[in-house]
Formats: sequence, structure tokens, C-alpha cells
Amino acid sequence: MPARHFRAAVFDIDGTLALMDKETGVYEALPGAVAALAVCRARGLATIAYTNGTFFPPEHYYPRLAAAGLDFEQGRILTPAVVAAHELSKAGCKRVMLLGAEGTRLPVEAAGIEAFAPTDAPGAVDAVMLSWTKNFDARDLEAICKAVWAGTPVYAGSTAPFVAGAKGKILGISGAVSAMVEYATGVKPIVLGKPAVYGLDMIAALTGATAREMIVVGDDPTLEIRMARRAGALAIGVTTGLADEAAFRAEPADTRAEIVLSTLEGFGEQNWLDGN
Ligand SMILES: [Mg+2]
Repeated sequence: MPARHFRAAVFDIDGTLALMDKETGVYEALPGAVAALAVCRARGLATIAYTNGTFFPPEHYYPRLAAAGLDFEQGRILTPAVVAAHELSKAGCKRVMLLGAEGTRLPVEAAGIEAFAPTDAPGAVDAVMLSWTKNFDARDLEAICKAVWAGTPVYAGSTAPFVAGAKGKILGISGAVSAMVEYATGVKPIVLGKPAVYGLDMIAALTGATAREMIVVGDDPTLEIRMARRAGALAIGVTTGLADEAAFRAEPADTRAEIVLSTLEGFGEQNWLDGN
């Protein structure tokens, strides 16, 4: 492979840079993660954390990752909610029915969009947005389906069935609700988080790097890796989260990780940074 010049490195958080204890919310950096960020910066790459979680707003992550030794500049931690707010705003949405926690509501409102809980939504909304929350009931699900039956477009931050936690799998609520919505309405929610490439478009705008000039590192072969391959970024899988090497290798060739690492240890000694 001829040396490529990279300008940005995009790291997934859970299972890639760190693992969170679900009870305490405390993050612990995974082996080699702190050094991997440092080597990317030393080689001139902008470093971005892009999680697929929508329960927390980006502000939640800065101090918690910093406490684990993982420092990011303001504006360099993205969630699907931030990407969704950007895309909904671009699409001209003014009023959104939101199934989600503060982690989605705050970025959506910051983009100048009114967000209503499903059962509180006024007659017409421009879109339905599904994201992570545990605070909903059957009335919310029915209100969502009624809006979708009426033709309102429906989006989801993530439709991943689960994410990696320090004590095992954490259920992906918006994925489960999306499956329910599709079952009940026949309409498949449009995913704005990974593996869609909207997040990388936003990172391109933030950093000036094209997708070809990005390294994407993640633990999920179906999320970060597919996103990276679709966009043309270098896709690096790491087996410290959800998937083992066999799971990465089992993906179809055109959406498979180009490199699979057992951990981020030694990230800086690898030859993909030779062009930097
Ligand atoms: Mg992950």
C-alpha cells in the first residue's frame, strides 16, 4: 500500500478508546489508547472521538474521558445526536418529535429545533427522531407510530442492537424502538449515526480533511468499519470491545476492516502513518 497522508483520526469511544462502568459512569482507558491519541497529534492529525451513543450530550464526555487520560479539544467529541441536529437543521426541520434523553434534546435544541416528547407533540411535526432513553412507555410508542403512519419522516441516531460496556452488552434502545416502528409501520427509520457517513461529512467540515485523509478506528465491524469503508477512510478494527478478529474477517470484503489490531498498543509504530 503506498503511503497515504492523513489529516484526521476518528476514534470510537466505547470498546475502542475506553470502557465505561455502567453503574458508576467512570471510564477507564483501554491499553494504548492514550498513546495512540498522542502519536496521531504528533504526526499532525486532528483527533476526534465519535461515539454512537445518544444518552449523553458531548459535554458529558470531555471531563470523564479526560479523567481517564483521554483529552479532546472542545468540539471534537461527536455523538449521533450532534450529527442528527446538523442534518435535521439542514433539512429545514423546525419541530421534532423526540424519543430521547437530554443527550439528544440539548444538541437538537442548540440547533434551533423545538423538540417535543412523543405524547406532548403538537399536531404536526417535521420529523420523528429516535435515540437512547429508558424513559418512555407504550403511549410514546403509539404516538410515534401515529406520526409515522401519517407520513412524518423518521430518523434514528443508532439502530445498533447493543454497545460494549465494562460488564458486557448494553441494549441499544433506539435500535430496538426502530425495529418496533418498522414492524408496526413498514417504514425503516433513516440512520443518522454510524454506519451512515453523515458524521464523517461533519468531521470533514470541522477539520478540512477529506474522508480519504481520515483514519477511522472502531470495535464494531458493522458500525465504524462500514462507515469508514463507505466513505473511503482507512478502516482499522480493534478487538477490545464487541468483536473478535473472526467477526471482523467475516464481513464482506468491500465493508471489511483493512487492518485489525488486538489493542491500540503500538498504534504509533505501524506503517499507516508513514505518509505523515
Ligand atoms: Mg464501540
